[in-house]
Amino acid sequence: MADNTCKACRDNYKVTETQMQRILQTSAFALERRVDMQQYQERLHLCSTCPKLSDGVTCTACGCIIPVVAWLKERACPLPGGGRWGKLADQEPASVATAAE
Ligand code: SF4
Repeated sequence: MADNTCKACRDNYKVTETQMQRILQTSAFALERRVDMQQYQERLHLCSTCPKLSDGVTCTACGCIIPVVAWLKERACPLPGGGRWGKLADQEPASVATAAE
């Protein structure tokens, strides 16, 4: 009987911690392209409560490895209406928000 599950969701294709660390060491994840640790943790928290997160790692809405892509400033949650978290550039800088209050 054919296995109709998504190939990337099968156990033998699941990404390992070692693979994620290897990806994070590439130039695509250079420090200037990353959000800070607080922002990263906030993104992980928002994803952890999302029904689209599979096995605590994969976003079933976009297929991305969340512990990896949540580091990137230019990434955003793919859900309609702006999603649960946005690009860093979409967010108002703290100094501007303070001045407007
Ligand atoms: S990126 Fe968005 S849709 Fe995907 S798991 Fe996170 S909150 Fe859910």
